[in-house]
Amino acid sequence: MLDLDGSAGEGGGQILRSALALSIVTGQPFAIDRIRAGRKNPGLQRQHLAAVEAAAAVGKAEVQGAAVGSRSLVFRPSGLAPGRHRFAVGSAGSATLVLQTILPPLLLAREPSTLELEGGTHNPWAPPFDFLERAFLPLLARMGAEVTAVCERRGFYPAGGGKVRVGIRPAGKLAPLELLERGPLKSVSARAIVSALSARIAKRELGVLGERLTLDCAQVVEEKDPRGPGNVVLVEVESAGLTEVFTGFGEKGVPAERVAGGVAGEVERYLAEGVPVGEHLADQLLLPLALAGGGAFVTGGWSGHTATNLDVIAKFLPVRFGVSEAGDARRIAVTS
Ligand code: ATP
Repeated sequence: MLDLDGSAGEGGGQILRSALALSIVTGQPFAIDRIRAGRKNPGLQRQHLAAVEAAAAVGKAEVQGAAVGSRSLVFRPSGLAPGRHRFAVGSAGSATLVLQTILPPLLLAREPSTLELEGGTHNPWAPPFDFLERAFLPLLARMGAEVTAVCERRGFYPAGGGKVRVGIRPAGKLAPLELLERGPLKSVSARAIVSALSARIAKRELGVLGERLTLDCAQVVEEKDPRGPGNVVLVEVESAGLTEVFTGFGEKGVPAERVAGGVAGEVERYLAEGVPVGEHLADQLLLPLALAGGGAFVTGGWSGHTATNLDVIAKFLPVRFGVSEAGDARRIAVTS
């Protein structure tokens, strides 16, 4: 039994999600205490519980401590159950973070899987669906795993109610991936999405982005089957080496111009830095690369999530991480 301290690193839900994924992959049971001790609302929240329940189903696991508010958990997997699964997060808990938890083991399964996930698809502090679809999944495809994702309905905080369908064709063994250079810029496109809100908000956001960035395409999208109000603005930067997606979330009381201005700033920094991998992609790539047993990337973004993932992965898998300075950026390499 591996003992984990949930307050380590960034002290949030990341250590738990990564541990669940790695436990199923390796068959190594774990116990974790002080779950999310670094957060205002410590312990398992609905969204984390949904991830635990999804992991228990996929890993045929016996679980102790799976309740809202619980600060400790024991997870004992006993196999892997690819196939059809449906998980509803309830409220606007992030459906994409549930996917982040169960995708790694399902990528290595013998059989394909089909997942139906209900919950938030565009939540602050979680990968927005479009980031998964346009940035993350294409990189998994380059590693040999074919994952298709369709967002049938967008779900925003706080109403939730989104629906995502995911098809996973496992890789057998994932191939290492290197993302050391971004390569020439191919296009920059922006999308502003509104759900049960005026399209004028989206147009104002695109107006700001159009002034700050050279856009090849700008699109207003209105959610056709809204379950509640929401707004997100996304900028997709396609380069020869990879595609990155940057996101800003509309918030009550925050002018659309400020939301779009924040995203424009992030994109400007990314373009100026010249590195391939942004902050969020960095923490999310570590697990697939570790499962592949090799690979490397250069990133300017070093977050608590990245540090946490490096730590927790090294506890479960026989891999080594090398982190070196590459100018103002860092090069992270995985070897087995
Ligand atoms: P909590 O303890 O409340 O659950 P957490 O620390 O688990 O929080 P978050 O900070 O919410 O989690 O981040 C979770 C994951 O979502 C990380 O992998 C992070 O990279 C990813 N993420 C957050 N924002 C974005 C974004 N805009 N684009 C892509 N990925 C994102």
